[in-house]
Amino acid sequence: MTGTNSYGSANDVDVLIVGGGIAGLSLAAELAGRCRVALVEAEPSLAYHTSARSAQQLIPSYGPAPVQELTRRTLARLAAVQEEAHDAVGRLAWPSRFMLVGTEAEVAEESHAGMQRLDVGQARALVPVLREGAFEAAALDTDSVRTDATALLAHHERTARAGGVAVHVGSPVHTAQRVGEGWLVGAGAEGFHAANVVNAAGAWADDLAVLFGVERLGLQPYRRTAALVSLARPLDPDTPMVAAADGTWYFRPDAAGALVSPSEAEPSRAEDAVPRPGDIERTLTLIRSVADLEVTGVVKAWTGLRTSPKDGLPVLGFDPEAPGFFWLAGQGGYGFQTSSAMAEEAAGQLLAGRDALRAGTHPVSETARALDPHRLSVRQ
Ligand SMILES: Cc1cc2nc3c(=O)[nH]c(=O)nc-3n(C[C@H](O)[C@H](O)[C@H](O)COP(=O)(O)OP(=O)(O)OC[C@H]3O[C@@H](n4cnc5c(N)ncnc54)[C@H](O)[C@@H]3O)c2cc1C
Repeated sequence: MTGTNSYGSANDVDVLIVGGGIAGLSLAAELAGRCRVALVEAEPSLAYHTSARSAQQLIPSYGPAPVQELTRRTLARLAAVQEEAHDAVGRLAWPSRFMLVGTEAEVAEESHAGMQRLDVGQARALVPVLREGAFEAAALDTDSVRTDATALLAHHERTARAGGVAVHVGSPVHTAQRVGEGWLVGAGAEGFHAANVVNAAGAWADDLAVLFGVERLGLQPYRRTAALVSLARPLDPDTPMVAAADGTWYFRPDAAGALVSPSEAEPSRAEDAVPRPGDIERTLTLIRSVADLEVTGVVKAWTGLRTSPKDGLPVLGFDPEAPGFFWLAGQGGYGFQTSSAMAEEAAGQLLAGRDALRAGTHPVSETARALDPHRLSVRQ
């Protein structure tokens, strides 16, 4: 297939991925070498937005059942990559326990099967900076894992490029027009003739849909701030990540001292979010009421946007109305921990095609069915 249009000679692709965060890059790596793929990213560098701003924690007990299943599959896939290609990829994932603390009722409400319930003494033995009398109960996830987001993103980018994926940065999608069953797309100075477009645009996913004449799914970005702080007395690097069961803060050891967050989820428009005055100070006041962290300074603070639909589940699948428009969005606070499994599911569906999915000749897992955009469509 060759295409000419107002961009001169368009790039003909089977799949055009819009968005160079963890969602778009992990899918690009998954599709590499299996069909003709291009990825376009609006910013001058990949993973500039939320994917550069996470806590890099993969917690199997976190989130609703489909997210937990995707997390388990992602952890297994990362372990396999690391075992096969450790010298090339570096350390992608390593054990890093996760602990919830709070009142008995809060911990009972927030902890999931698979977490180990701890009394105050056991919790303080693992995290000695926790204050006696400041919490009643704790629960521990021993399967939780830390990832190196930079190494993981670089691994996906390398795999994608090696498999022939054309990666264009500084290329915001600005125009889209239907051509037959596919799309003619303008992104930066490039033109693409794409059989399928994947919406991996993070906080901008609904805006991108509108550009394609596709109805929004009600994806809402929510602010979350975090900071690296220096400490007078460093934490033992084996200290679990500790989170308030009422969702008001978390901290965990880091090479610089500690990573802290107020765990806020405040609705925002899609933008390059930044911390507000007082965000970190308020967080530290809350954490200090429970833990003796002697903070000597703020090394770095940032805000990212976690984007979710109303039901809090990611969105994966062909749009119910618009042929060749595929959603890979709404990952909320689970974008890294679900990434490899979501990329695998998305690649399977894209390669099978919408018709095979509709005819039922391509098997779709129960988990993937729970993520189908049809559930959110006002047109259903
Ligand atoms: C403080 C914080 C802590 C977090 N901690 C964790 C954690 O511990 N574990 C975890 O799993 N997740 C965590 N998350 C969530 C995780 O970071 C996100 O789910 C994930 O990064 C979302 O990835 P994405 O690729 O969908 O979005 P993004 O990384 O935002 O990528 C979307 C990209 O699309 C591009 N784009 C948008 N519109 C266009 C257009 N028109 N043309 C071209 N490109 C476009 C944007 O520029 C952007 O680069 C955290 C998030 C925050 C903010």
